[in-house]
Amino acid sequence: MSIINVPRGTQDILPKESKKWQYVEEKLRNISNNFCYDEIRTPIFESTELFARGVGDTTDIVQKEMYTFLDKSDRSITLRPEGTAGTVRSYIENKLFAEVIKPQKLFYIGPMFRYERKQKGRYRQFVQYGVEVIGEESPKIDAEVISLGYNIYKSFGINNIKVSVNSLGNPSERKAYNEALVKHFEPRIGEFCKDCNSRLYKNPMRILDCKVDANHELMQSAPRLLDFLGEESISYFNEVLKHLDNLGVKYEIDHNLVRGLDYYTHTAFEIMIDNPNVELKTLCGGGRYNGLVEMLGGPEGEKGIGFALSIERLLLALESENIELPIEESIDLFVVSMGQSAGDFAVKLTNDLRLAGLKVQNDYFDKKIKAQMKLADRYKAKYTIIIGDTEIEEGKVTVKNMENFTQESVQINELKKYIEDKLGE
Ligand code: ATP
Ligand code: MG
Repeated sequence: MSIINVPRGTQDILPKESKKWQYVEEKLRNISNNFCYDEIRTPIFESTELFARGVGDTTDIVQKEMYTFLDKSDRSITLRPEGTAGTVRSYIENKLFAEVIKPQKLFYIGPMFRYERKQKGRYRQFVQYGVEVIGEESPKIDAEVISLGYNIYKSFGINNIKVSVNSLGNPSERKAYNEALVKHFEPRIGEFCKDCNSRLYKNPMRILDCKVDANHELMQSAPRLLDFLGEESISYFNEVLKHLDNLGVKYEIDHNLVRGLDYYTHTAFEIMIDNPNVELKTLCGGGRYNGLVEMLGGPEGEKGIGFALSIERLLLALESENIELPIEESIDLFVVSMGQSAGDFAVKLTNDLRLAGLKVQNDYFDKKIKAQMKLADRYKAKYTIIIGDTEIEEGKVTVKNMENFTQESVQINELKKYIEDKLGE
Protein backbone atom coordinates (compact mmCIF):
# COMPACT_ATOMS: atom_id res chain seq x y z
CA MET A 1 0.00 0.00 0.00
CA SER A 2 1.16 3.52 -0.69
CA ILE A 3 2.07 5.72 2.24
CA ILE A 4 0.13 8.83 3.12
CA ASN A 5 2.08 12.06 3.50
CA VAL A 6 1.56 15.05 5.73
CA PRO A 7 -0.66 17.67 3.99
CA ARG A 8 1.17 20.24 1.89
CA GLY A 9 2.37 23.22 3.90
CA THR A 10 2.16 21.40 7.24
CA GLN A 11 4.87 19.66 9.22
CA ASP A 12 5.36 17.10 11.94
CA ILE A 13 7.31 18.38 14.89
CA LEU A 14 9.44 15.39 15.83
CA PRO A 15 10.79 14.82 19.36
CA LYS A 16 14.11 16.60 18.84
CA GLU A 17 12.37 19.64 17.40
CA SER A 18 9.52 19.58 19.90
CA LYS A 19 12.01 20.16 22.72
CA LYS A 20 12.86 23.46 21.06
CA TRP A 21 9.18 24.29 20.73
CA GLN A 22 8.57 23.59 24.39
CA TYR A 23 11.53 25.73 25.34
CA VAL A 24 10.34 28.62 23.18
CA GLU A 25 6.76 28.34 24.37
CA GLU A 26 7.78 28.28 28.01
CA LYS A 27 9.94 31.34 27.53
CA LEU A 28 7.07 33.14 25.81
CA ARG A 29 4.75 32.27 28.69
CA ASN A 30 7.28 33.47 31.26
CA ILE A 31 7.94 36.76 29.57
CA SER A 32 4.18 37.30 29.12
CA ASN A 33 3.77 36.65 32.80
CA ASN A 34 6.43 39.21 33.71
CA PHE A 35 4.68 41.79 31.54
CA CYS A 36 1.37 40.85 33.26
CA TYR A 37 -0.39 39.38 30.22
CA ASP A 38 -2.81 36.52 30.90
CA GLU A 39 -3.49 33.70 28.52
CA ILE A 40 -6.73 33.44 26.57
CA ARG A 41 -7.63 30.25 24.71
CA THR A 42 -10.25 30.55 22.03
CA PRO A 43 -11.50 27.89 19.59
CA ILE A 44 -9.47 26.89 16.57
CA PHE A 45 -12.53 27.38 14.39
CA GLU A 46 -15.01 30.22 14.38
CA SER A 47 -17.94 31.44 12.27
CA THR A 48 -16.64 32.55 8.90
CA GLU A 49 -18.37 35.89 9.37
CA LEU A 50 -16.09 36.74 12.29
CA PHE A 51 -13.06 36.83 10.00
CA ALA A 52 -14.91 38.45 7.10
CA ARG A 53 -15.74 41.32 9.44
CA GLY A 54 -12.83 41.17 11.85
CA VAL A 55 -9.94 40.66 9.44
CA GLY A 56 -11.60 42.44 6.54
CA ASP A 57 -13.09 41.45 3.20
CA THR A 58 -10.37 43.13 1.17
CA THR A 59 -7.41 41.40 2.81
CA ASP A 60 -5.43 38.55 1.24
CA ILE A 61 -6.31 36.44 4.25
CA VAL A 62 -10.05 36.65 3.68
CA GLN A 63 -9.91 36.74 -0.10
CA LYS A 64 -7.51 33.89 -0.73
CA GLU A 65 -6.19 32.16 2.34
CA MET A 66 -9.00 30.86 4.53
CA TYR A 67 -9.86 27.24 5.18
CA THR A 68 -13.62 27.55 5.05
CA PHE A 69 -16.13 24.71 5.04
CA LEU A 70 -19.75 23.96 5.82
CA ASP A 71 -20.27 21.82 8.89
CA LYS A 72 -22.93 19.12 9.00
CA SER A 73 -25.56 21.72 9.86
CA ASP A 74 -24.54 23.89 6.92
CA ARG A 75 -22.93 26.58 9.05
CA SER A 76 -20.00 28.29 7.41
CA ILE A 77 -16.97 27.62 9.60
CA THR A 78 -13.37 28.79 9.16
CA LEU A 79 -10.18 27.51 10.72
CA ARG A 80 -8.78 30.60 12.37
CA PRO A 81 -6.19 32.36 10.17
CA GLU A 82 -5.14 34.71 13.00
CA GLY A 83 -5.82 35.32 16.66
CA THR A 84 -7.09 38.87 17.04
CA ALA A 85 -10.63 38.36 15.74
CA GLY A 86 -11.33 35.42 18.07
CA THR A 87 -9.80 37.23 21.05
CA VAL A 88 -11.88 40.34 20.46
CA ARG A 89 -15.01 38.24 19.90
CA SER A 90 -14.41 36.55 23.24
CA TYR A 91 -13.69 39.89 24.92
CA ILE A 92 -17.09 41.13 23.79
CA GLU A 93 -19.04 37.91 24.32
CA ASN A 94 -17.68 37.39 27.84
CA LYS A 95 -17.95 41.07 28.75
CA LEU A 96 -14.30 41.37 29.65
CA PHE A 97 -14.82 45.10 29.16
CA ALA A 98 -16.66 45.07 32.50
CA GLU A 99 -13.68 43.64 34.42
CA VAL A 100 -12.21 45.82 37.15
CA ILE A 101 -8.77 45.91 35.59
CA LYS A 102 -8.61 47.83 32.35
CA PRO A 103 -7.14 47.48 29.84
CA GLN A 104 -7.28 43.69 29.69
CA LYS A 105 -3.84 42.38 28.74
CA LEU A 106 -4.12 39.04 26.98
CA PHE A 107 -1.85 36.66 25.13
CA TYR A 108 -2.52 33.55 23.08
CA ILE A 109 -0.46 30.83 21.55
CA GLY A 110 -1.76 28.27 19.10
CA PRO A 111 -2.09 27.03 15.54
CA MET A 112 -3.38 29.24 12.73
CA PHE A 113 -4.35 28.12 9.24
CA ARG A 114 -3.86 29.87 5.92
CA TYR A 115 -4.00 28.46 2.44
CA GLU A 116 -0.73 29.94 1.20
CA ARG A 117 1.94 29.09 -1.30
CA LYS A 118 4.44 26.98 0.57
CA GLN A 119 7.92 28.41 1.04
CA LYS A 120 10.53 28.49 3.77
CA GLY A 121 8.95 30.22 6.77
CA ARG A 122 5.46 30.08 5.28
CA TYR A 123 3.21 27.23 6.29
CA ARG A 124 -0.45 26.36 5.95
CA GLN A 125 -0.57 25.49 9.62
CA PHE A 126 1.69 27.59 11.81
CA VAL A 127 1.78 28.60 15.45
CA GLN A 128 1.31 32.19 16.43
CA TYR A 129 2.00 33.83 19.72
CA GLY A 130 0.24 37.14 20.04
CA VAL A 131 -0.86 39.73 22.56
CA GLU A 132 -3.85 42.07 22.68
CA VAL A 133 -4.37 44.97 25.05
CA ILE A 134 -8.04 45.89 24.94
CA GLY A 135 -10.08 48.57 26.66
CA GLU A 136 -8.07 51.74 27.17
CA GLU A 137 -5.53 53.58 25.09
CA SER A 138 -2.22 55.24 25.97
CA PRO A 139 1.08 55.80 24.15
CA LYS A 140 2.65 53.97 27.09
CA ILE A 141 0.64 50.89 26.17
CA ASP A 142 1.71 51.08 22.52
CA ALA A 143 5.33 51.35 23.57
CA GLU A 144 4.96 48.49 26.05
CA VAL A 145 3.51 46.22 23.37
CA ILE A 146 6.29 47.05 20.90
CA SER A 147 8.89 46.64 23.60
CA LEU A 148 7.47 43.25 24.55
CA GLY A 149 7.76 42.02 20.95
CA TYR A 150 11.24 43.48 20.58
CA ASN A 151 12.48 42.02 23.84
CA ILE A 152 11.14 38.58 23.03
CA TYR A 153 13.70 38.35 20.23
CA LYS A 154 16.38 39.96 22.37
CA SER A 155 15.76 37.46 25.15
CA PHE A 156 16.55 34.64 22.74
CA GLY A 157 19.80 36.38 21.80
CA ILE A 158 18.50 37.61 18.44
CA ASN A 159 20.06 41.06 18.34
CA ASN A 160 19.99 41.66 14.61
CA ILE A 161 16.48 43.02 14.59
CA LYS A 162 14.86 46.28 13.79
CA VAL A 163 11.45 47.69 14.46
CA SER A 164 9.67 49.62 11.75
CA VAL A 165 6.96 51.88 13.00
CA ASN A 166 4.45 54.24 11.49
CA SER A 167 1.29 56.04 12.46
CA LEU A 168 -1.92 55.46 10.55
CA GLY A 169 -3.69 58.36 12.24
CA ASN A 170 -7.47 58.30 12.53
CA PRO A 171 -10.06 57.29 9.92
CA SER A 172 -10.73 60.79 8.61
CA GLU A 173 -7.02 61.54 8.23
CA ARG A 174 -6.66 58.30 6.34
CA LYS A 175 -9.55 59.17 4.07
CA ALA A 176 -7.76 62.29 2.88
CA TYR A 177 -4.59 60.27 2.46
CA ASN A 178 -6.36 57.59 0.41
CA GLU A 179 -7.68 60.26 -1.93
CA ALA A 180 -4.16 61.56 -2.42
CA LEU A 181 -2.94 58.05 -3.13
CA VAL A 182 -5.59 57.49 -5.79
CA LYS A 183 -4.47 60.73 -7.46
CA HIS A 184 -0.85 59.62 -7.25
CA PHE A 185 -1.24 56.14 -8.72
CA GLU A 186 -4.23 56.57 -11.05
CA PRO A 187 -2.40 57.95 -14.11
CA ARG A 188 0.11 55.10 -14.18
CA ILE A 189 -1.83 52.26 -12.57
CA GLY A 190 -1.43 50.29 -15.82
CA GLU A 191 2.21 49.71 -14.88
CA PHE A 192 1.18 47.88 -11.70
CA CYS A 193 0.10 44.30 -11.04
CA LYS A 194 -3.44 43.05 -11.33
CA ASP A 195 -4.00 43.11 -7.56
CA CYS A 196 -2.86 46.74 -7.35
CA ASN A 197 -5.27 47.64 -10.12
CA SER A 198 -8.15 46.20 -8.18
CA ARG A 199 -6.89 47.87 -4.97
CA LEU A 200 -6.76 51.37 -6.47
CA TYR A 201 -10.31 52.39 -5.55
CA LYS A 202 -11.21 49.75 -2.98
CA ASN A 203 -8.18 50.09 -0.75
CA PRO A 204 -5.42 52.25 -2.22
CA MET A 205 -3.19 52.02 0.87
CA ARG A 206 -2.72 48.33 0.20
CA ILE A 207 -0.83 49.24 -2.99
CA LEU A 208 2.03 50.42 -0.77
CA ASP A 209 2.10 46.94 0.72
CA CYS A 210 2.42 45.20 -2.66
CA LYS A 211 5.29 42.75 -2.87
CA VAL A 212 5.26 42.53 -6.69
CA ASP A 213 5.63 46.25 -7.35
CA ALA A 214 7.63 47.18 -4.25
CA ASN A 215 10.42 48.75 -6.34
CA HIS A 216 8.30 50.83 -8.68
CA GLU A 217 9.41 54.49 -8.58
CA LEU A 218 5.91 55.66 -7.69
CA MET A 219 6.20 53.72 -4.42
CA GLN A 220 9.06 55.87 -3.17
CA SER A 221 7.51 59.11 -4.36
CA ALA A 222 4.06 58.34 -2.95
CA PRO A 223 2.57 60.86 -0.53
CA ARG A 224 3.37 60.13 3.11
CA LEU A 225 0.66 59.35 5.59
CA LEU A 226 2.50 61.29 8.27
CA ASP A 227 1.93 64.49 6.28
CA PHE A 228 -1.83 63.96 6.54
CA LEU A 229 -1.96 63.56 10.29
CA GLY A 230 -3.49 66.22 12.49
CA GLU A 231 -1.91 67.61 15.63
CA GLU A 232 -3.43 65.05 17.97
CA SER A 233 -2.29 62.06 15.96
CA ILE A 234 1.20 63.50 15.60
CA SER A 235 1.54 64.16 19.28
CA TYR A 236 0.29 60.63 20.09
CA PHE A 237 2.87 59.20 17.71
CA ASN A 238 5.65 61.35 19.18
CA GLU A 239 4.73 60.16 22.66
CA VAL A 240 4.98 56.55 21.54
CA LEU A 241 8.41 57.24 20.04
CA LYS A 242 9.52 59.02 23.21
CA HIS A 243 8.66 55.96 25.27
CA LEU A 244 10.39 53.66 22.80
CA ASP A 245 13.54 55.77 23.19
CA ASN A 246 13.17 55.57 26.94
CA LEU A 247 12.80 51.78 26.79
CA GLY A 248 15.84 51.42 24.53
CA VAL A 249 13.88 49.96 21.63
CA LYS A 250 15.67 50.61 18.35
CA TYR A 251 13.23 51.62 15.63
CA GLU A 252 12.93 53.45 12.37
CA ILE A 253 9.92 55.18 10.89
CA ASP A 254 8.67 53.45 7.74
CA HIS A 255 6.27 55.65 5.79
CA ASN A 256 5.13 52.77 3.62
CA LEU A 257 4.14 50.56 6.53
CA VAL A 258 0.36 50.54 6.21
CA ARG A 259 -2.69 48.50 7.01
CA GLY A 260 -5.61 49.25 4.85
CA LEU A 261 -8.59 48.67 7.09
CA ASP A 262 -10.73 51.32 8.68
CA TYR A 263 -10.43 50.05 12.21
CA TYR A 264 -6.64 50.37 12.26
CA THR A 265 -5.59 53.59 13.93
CA HIS A 266 -2.38 55.25 15.05
CA THR A 267 0.53 52.93 15.75
CA ALA A 268 1.49 50.20 13.27
CA PHE A 269 4.74 48.26 13.49
CA GLU A 270 6.73 45.29 12.27
CA ILE A 271 9.78 43.59 13.66
CA MET A 272 12.25 42.46 11.04
CA ILE A 273 15.37 40.40 11.06
CA ASP A 274 18.32 42.40 9.79
CA ASN A 275 20.12 39.61 7.96
CA PRO A 276 20.58 39.69 4.17
CA ASN A 277 20.60 35.88 3.98
CA VAL A 278 17.07 35.55 5.27
CA GLU A 279 14.40 35.80 2.65
CA LEU A 280 11.33 36.34 4.80
CA LYS A 281 12.42 39.17 7.02
CA THR A 282 9.23 40.01 8.87
CA LEU A 283 9.07 38.18 12.16
CA CYS A 284 6.24 40.00 13.82
CA GLY A 285 3.50 42.46 12.90
CA GLY A 286 1.12 44.50 14.95
CA GLY A 287 -0.72 47.70 15.53
CA ARG A 288 -3.56 49.58 17.09
CA TYR A 289 -7.12 48.71 16.09
CA ASN A 290 -9.36 51.14 17.90
CA GLY A 291 -12.36 50.48 15.65
CA LEU A 292 -12.38 46.69 15.86
CA VAL A 293 -14.37 46.08 19.04
CA GLU A 294 -17.21 48.20 17.71
CA MET A 295 -16.95 46.59 14.27
CA LEU A 296 -17.55 43.22 15.94
CA GLY A 297 -20.63 44.45 17.79
CA GLY A 298 -18.95 45.44 21.08
CA PRO A 299 -19.43 48.65 23.04
CA GLU A 300 -18.24 51.97 21.67
CA GLY A 301 -14.93 53.45 22.68
CA GLU A 302 -13.12 50.20 23.46
CA LYS A 303 -9.59 50.63 22.11
CA GLY A 304 -7.13 47.89 21.26
CA ILE A 305 -3.58 47.11 20.20
CA GLY A 306 -1.70 43.88 19.62
CA PHE A 307 0.84 41.95 17.63
CA ALA A 308 1.41 38.42 16.38
CA LEU A 309 4.53 36.46 15.60
CA SER A 310 5.02 32.91 14.45
CA ILE A 311 7.19 30.44 16.26
CA GLU A 312 8.26 28.96 12.92
CA ARG A 313 9.89 32.23 11.92
CA LEU A 314 11.35 32.73 15.37
CA LEU A 315 13.04 29.33 15.06
CA LEU A 316 14.28 30.22 11.57
CA ALA A 317 15.70 33.45 12.95
CA LEU A 318 17.52 31.50 15.66
CA GLU A 319 18.94 29.27 12.96
CA SER A 320 20.08 32.12 10.74
CA GLU A 321 21.74 33.80 13.73
CA ASN A 322 23.42 30.50 14.71
CA ILE A 323 21.84 30.51 18.15
CA GLU A 324 21.59 27.15 19.90
CA LEU A 325 18.87 26.81 22.50
CA PRO A 326 20.02 25.31 25.80
CA ILE A 327 17.99 22.14 25.42
CA GLU A 328 18.45 19.45 28.04
CA GLU A 329 18.82 16.12 26.24
CA SER A 330 20.24 14.04 29.04
CA ILE A 331 18.55 11.94 31.71
CA ASP A 332 19.46 11.88 35.39
CA LEU A 333 19.95 8.19 35.92
CA PHE A 334 20.03 4.88 34.06
CA VAL A 335 19.35 1.80 36.14
CA VAL A 336 21.35 -1.22 34.93
CA SER A 337 20.40 -4.63 36.31
CA MET A 338 21.89 -8.12 36.38
CA GLY A 339 19.58 -11.11 36.46
CA GLN A 340 15.85 -11.49 36.60
CA SER A 341 15.06 -10.55 40.19
CA ALA A 342 17.36 -7.51 40.00
CA GLY A 343 15.59 -6.61 36.73
CA ASP A 344 12.24 -6.65 38.51
CA PHE A 345 13.68 -4.62 41.37
CA ALA A 346 15.02 -2.11 38.83
CA VAL A 347 11.56 -1.65 37.33
CA LYS A 348 10.14 -0.71 40.73
CA LEU A 349 13.10 1.48 41.69
CA THR A 350 12.93 3.32 38.36
CA ASN A 351 9.24 3.94 38.88
CA ASP A 352 9.73 5.22 42.45
CA LEU A 353 12.53 7.57 41.47
CA ARG A 354 10.47 8.92 38.56
CA LEU A 355 7.57 9.63 40.88
CA ALA A 356 10.00 11.32 43.23
CA GLY A 357 10.90 13.73 40.41
CA LEU A 358 14.00 12.33 38.75
CA LYS A 359 14.33 11.52 35.05
CA VAL A 360 15.13 7.82 35.05
CA GLN A 361 15.24 4.97 32.56
CA ASN A 362 15.87 1.22 32.88
CA ASP A 363 16.35 -1.70 30.51
CA TYR A 364 13.29 -3.73 29.43
CA PHE A 365 14.88 -6.75 27.83
CA ASP A 366 17.35 -8.34 30.30
CA LYS A 367 20.23 -7.25 28.09
CA LYS A 368 23.87 -7.90 28.92
CA ILE A 369 25.50 -5.27 31.15
CA LYS A 370 27.60 -3.94 28.31
CA ALA A 371 24.52 -3.43 26.14
CA GLN A 372 22.73 -1.71 29.03
CA MET A 373 25.69 0.63 29.58
CA LYS A 374 25.64 1.45 25.89
CA LEU A 375 21.98 2.28 26.16
CA ALA A 376 22.74 4.50 29.17
CA ASP A 377 25.18 6.37 26.92
CA ARG A 378 22.58 6.77 24.21
CA TYR A 379 20.23 8.24 26.78
CA LYS A 380 23.06 10.59 27.83
CA ALA A 381 22.57 9.46 31.41
CA LYS A 382 24.37 11.65 33.94
CA TYR A 383 24.54 8.79 36.45
CA THR A 384 24.22 5.02 36.29
CA ILE A 385 23.83 2.33 38.91
CA ILE A 386 24.22 -1.41 38.49
CA ILE A 387 21.86 -3.55 40.53
CA GLY A 388 22.52 -7.22 41.26
CA ASP A 389 21.46 -9.58 44.02
CA THR A 390 24.22 -8.34 46.36
CA GLU A 391 23.12 -4.74 45.98
CA ILE A 392 19.56 -5.67 46.82
CA GLU A 393 20.68 -7.66 49.84
CA GLU A 394 22.92 -4.90 51.18
CA GLY A 395 20.56 -2.09 50.22
CA LYS A 396 23.49 -0.24 48.64
CA VAL A 397 24.52 0.60 45.07
CA THR A 398 27.54 2.09 43.39
CA VAL A 399 26.60 5.32 41.65
CA LYS A 400 28.77 6.12 38.67
CA ASN A 401 29.16 9.67 37.43
CA MET A 402 29.18 9.26 33.65
CA GLU A 403 31.00 12.49 33.03
CA ASN A 404 34.15 11.92 35.11
CA PHE A 405 33.64 8.19 35.92
CA THR A 406 34.00 8.68 39.65
CA GLN A 407 32.03 6.23 41.79
CA GLU A 408 30.43 6.35 45.18
CA SER A 409 28.59 3.84 47.29
CA VAL A 410 25.10 5.06 48.23
CA GLN A 411 22.21 3.56 50.23
CA ILE A 412 19.37 2.74 47.85
CA ASN A 413 16.88 4.60 50.02
CA GLU A 414 19.11 7.68 49.86
CA LEU A 415 19.58 7.54 46.11
CA LYS A 416 17.08 10.22 45.29
CA LYS A 417 18.60 12.71 47.71
CA TYR A 418 22.14 11.86 46.61
CA ILE A 419 21.41 12.44 42.92
CA GLU A 420 19.37 15.56 43.58
CA ASP A 421 22.20 17.02 45.67
CA LYS A 422 24.73 16.18 42.96
CA LEU A 423 22.55 17.67 40.20
CA GLY A 424 22.09 20.79 42.28
CA GLU A 425 25.83 21.34 42.72
P1 ATP B 1 3.43 38.07 5.40
O1 ATP B 1 3.59 39.44 4.86
O2 ATP B 1 4.74 37.38 5.69
O3 ATP B 1 2.47 37.22 4.63
P2 ATP B 1 1.30 38.69 7.17
O4 ATP B 1 1.10 40.16 7.04
O5 ATP B 1 0.36 37.78 6.47
O6 ATP B 1 2.82 38.29 6.83
P3 ATP B 1 0.46 38.68 9.91
O7 ATP B 1 -0.91 38.28 9.60
O8 ATP B 1 0.75 40.06 10.37
O9 ATP B 1 1.42 38.33 8.71
O10 ATP B 1 1.06 37.63 10.97
C1 ATP B 1 2.04 37.98 11.94
C2 ATP B 1 3.28 37.13 11.78
O11 ATP B 1 2.97 35.76 11.63
C3 ATP B 1 4.08 37.45 10.54
O12 ATP B 1 4.91 38.54 10.77
C4 ATP B 1 4.86 36.18 10.34
O13 ATP B 1 6.00 36.14 11.20
C5 ATP B 1 3.93 35.12 10.81
N1 ATP B 1 3.28 34.43 9.69
C6 ATP B 1 2.30 34.90 8.89
N2 ATP B 1 1.93 33.97 8.00
C7 ATP B 1 2.69 32.86 8.26
C8 ATP B 1 2.78 31.56 7.68
N3 ATP B 1 1.99 31.21 6.69
N4 ATP B 1 3.68 30.69 8.19
C9 ATP B 1 4.48 31.04 9.23
N5 ATP B 1 4.45 32.24 9.80
C10 ATP B 1 3.56 33.16 9.34
MG1 MG C 1 0.47 36.77 4.65
